[in-house]
Amino acid sequence: MGKLLFRPAPFSDECQVSYLIRISQHNGFSHIGKLLDFAGLKWKNARVPVHQILTGEFDLSSHFLQLDLKVSFAPTAEVYRSFRRVIDSPYILVKHPKLCPDCLQELGYCKYYWSFLPVVACNKHQKLLVDVQEDTGKRLSWYRPRLDSFDTNHEPILAPHQKFGSSVFQFNAYVNSLLSNTVHTVEIPKIVRGLTFRESLTLINFLAHYSARLVGDNFNPNRMENIELAQHYTAIWNLLRNWPDAFYSLLSQFIDNPMSKRGIAGINKHYRDLYEQLHRRRLNQGIAVIKEEFDRYVATYWPGVLDSQRVTRITSSIASRNIISKKKAAVVIGCRPERIDSYVIMNRLSRVIFKGKAHYLLDEADALATELGSNWTMNEACHELEITRHQLRQLLDSQILTAIQKPNRLNRDWVIDKNHCEKFIRDLSLKARIGVPKKPISRAGIQHQGFSIVQLVTAMKTGSVTFDFSPNIDHRVSFKQFSNFEINIV
Ligand SMILES: [Zn+2]
Repeated sequence: MGKLLFRPAPFSDECQVSYLIRISQHNGFSHIGKLLDFAGLKWKNARVPVHQILTGEFDLSSHFLQLDLKVSFAPTAEVYRSFRRVIDSPYILVKHPKLCPDCLQELGYCKYYWSFLPVVACNKHQKLLVDVQEDTGKRLSWYRPRLDSFDTNHEPILAPHQKFGSSVFQFNAYVNSLLSNTVHTVEIPKIVRGLTFRESLTLINFLAHYSARLVGDNFNPNRMENIELAQHYTAIWNLLRNWPDAFYSLLSQFIDNPMSKRGIAGINKHYRDLYEQLHRRRLNQGIAVIKEEFDRYVATYWPGVLDSQRVTRITSSIASRNIISKKKAAVVIGCRPERIDSYVIMNRLSRVIFKGKAHYLLDEADALATELGSNWTMNEACHELEITRHQLRQLLDSQILTAIQKPNRLNRDWVIDKNHCEKFIRDLSLKARIGVPKKPISRAGIQHQGFSIVQLVTAMKTGSVTFDFSPNIDHRVSFKQFSNFEINIV
């Protein structure tokens, strides 16, 4: 086999496939297929396993030896190999080449960074990478005859004149810094700090997929032109900069764009799909940070939608919905609908906006109803304790008894802590005297001596008034179980 005339060594940051283009061009081959055919590859139609060369799955070393070229290893392969199947994103390397015409002109070769999908621009020249011929719409090909032109016309590849916003270059700078291990933590969104290229790209592609889904699109970066991909990535970059608010807003948009026409079932389908993906791929730290925020969102706005016990089966019926209308909330709590507003102001209930309308959380309404139902109103407490309303107020004011809810501007009702009343009577009963009183007096009698209910209870607790306790099974909480009071003169 004849030796090649032009045999330069590859540059350390040169793309391996582009290196082949460079070699074939300068040795008079019409494209890399012909060159490798010459080197003994003998693939049908002079095709070349470009993707497998970039990923390192296809070893070119024997062909390099045939061509008497210095054997080099694809720098892209190491990065590619660090990605794990299923857990990490499969969208790492380009299908079609892209390049910066200005860099190419200066350097004379193509950088291997340009083979990574998220590298969409050249920050040095402030331009998007080129992968499509502007006037013909023709894709740049790995089988092109010259490194710097689309076809045999030998017209040089030109960068578009279009101006792009700074976001795309910020994003691109971040991706470059990930690839070169020079990430400046200060300049990047908090949410991606500490993430590796593998983790971050997985996070970005994941979010891009769900953002595209929202508008009925598929995120297929292999098929997209660079300019379109750059738009998707810039949108995700802006989302990351406004994390988690922008993510919440993305999630809430599922409500307006359910996955099926069945309304709520379609929304749940979205969430179920997201949840399952996040769960399955949670070992990727990038996915884990999204999952953390997603779980928080669902717990706040959609509790009950996701059944943690059954990851793959998430309830999707309207009956299981945790958000309810004001009317329903009032029924659950047993109050007038107007009262719901005051419960919200008092932070006893949360208000969520669903489809533009105020709704309430069923679990909170249930809990509130249980709390109200299992405690006492003022009248109930007076009846059970067998004291007057005035006395009850005094005991509450002195904090001998406690209220769960006090009347205020928003609410007229007391809610008296039932458990605390029971404990109060039980504790006092333990202080009852042992033995016989000398000159016992009635409760009315001791109050005539100037003891208010508060003073009496305090004296009973400290022992300065002794008393008998005669339990009444039918009125276990009655204060009337205490009798035969006697002032204990020490
Ligand atoms: Zn450039």
